[in-house]
Amino acid sequence: MKTGAHLLTQLERCGLSAELATQHREISEDSSGGRVTREEIGRAWAARDKTLDPRADKALMWLAGCHGLVHSVNEELDLTDDERKTGEVLASGKPGAVVEFADGEVLVLSWVIGSHYDYPEPEEDLGLIAMGLAAAKGRPFRVGQVWVLDDAPAAACRRSPLYAPESHPALWHRVRSAVSRPKIACPGQWCISCKQRIYCEAWLTRAAAALVILGLEVKAAKEGQIPKLDITSATASDLAERIKTVESLVDFAKPQLQAAVKSGVRCVVNGKEYYSRLADGRETADVKALKAAGLTEYIKVGDPYETFGWRKVPGFAVATSKARSKS
Ligand code: SF4
Repeated sequence: MKTGAHLLTQLERCGLSAELATQHREISEDSSGGRVTREEIGRAWAARDKTLDPRADKALMWLAGCHGLVHSVNEELDLTDDERKTGEVLASGKPGAVVEFADGEVLVLSWVIGSHYDYPEPEEDLGLIAMGLAAAKGRPFRVGQVWVLDDAPAAACRRSPLYAPESHPALWHRVRSAVSRPKIACPGQWCISCKQRIYCEAWLTRAAAALVILGLEVKAAKEGQIPKLDITSATASDLAERIKTVESLVDFAKPQLQAAVKSGVRCVVNGKEYYSRLADGRETADVKALKAAGLTEYIKVGDPYETFGWRKVPGFAVATSKARSKS
């Protein structure tokens, strides 16, 4: 059975994740319409057509200026086991595009669309590397991400180091090992980013243990749903207090973790290192002064958003320790 290339990175760490992904509809994080834009990029490129999607337009502009022969834009690509000549399709996927350069180097791309500022490096994506092996067929290749961000005027590309032909056998080995992993749960730091965790007994067991302090039970999710907590007006206040307890524990622990990291302790989670840096101060403007000067065109008003706060309940007397001791 061929495996979806997008599952390979997770599959390399845990054999159960791909199995769960095929059993259940995947919960998509493409809420910002990234999939629709990817399809529009493929359609417009194939038809040599204009697009009204500004994000697709930025991607097409990048492709048009990349100085290579572009093909396979958002098209299905199979990784056949050419190295062992078995003809078996190990994985298949839809890379964003394949670009071949005059010097023989191949670049296999994915699109990062929307507002994804925190994204793994392209060389951490085994699925994209598998697509690189499929497209390069023994030639040197890189994998890359073309970032099409909403607030950037143009698309930009982030590329991996070069995979010379001598390095390909090791990459084939990684792909074969991933697709042939036994379908058993291997819990670890990677569970945080596993989209199948709500179907996974191993994760649910660990989540249930973590939620004991919240006084909640997590039940296995039904198809396509996140775990449902049973919250009513009778239980909500108790839950809110418990959440505050957890938050205060976090407030107690987090500054100590940050101080430890600043003093040189290494903290690596799921391949990412927690670090401290001095950020540039944010630029702000005096809105009142701008309004007074009639410069309202320089004032940006964001979309309304939902927020939560605590407000006093009329007629409710806060219980004091004195009142409590009398009762
Ligand atoms: S939650 Fe963790 S253990 Fe469960 S399938 Fe995902 S990666 Fe595997």
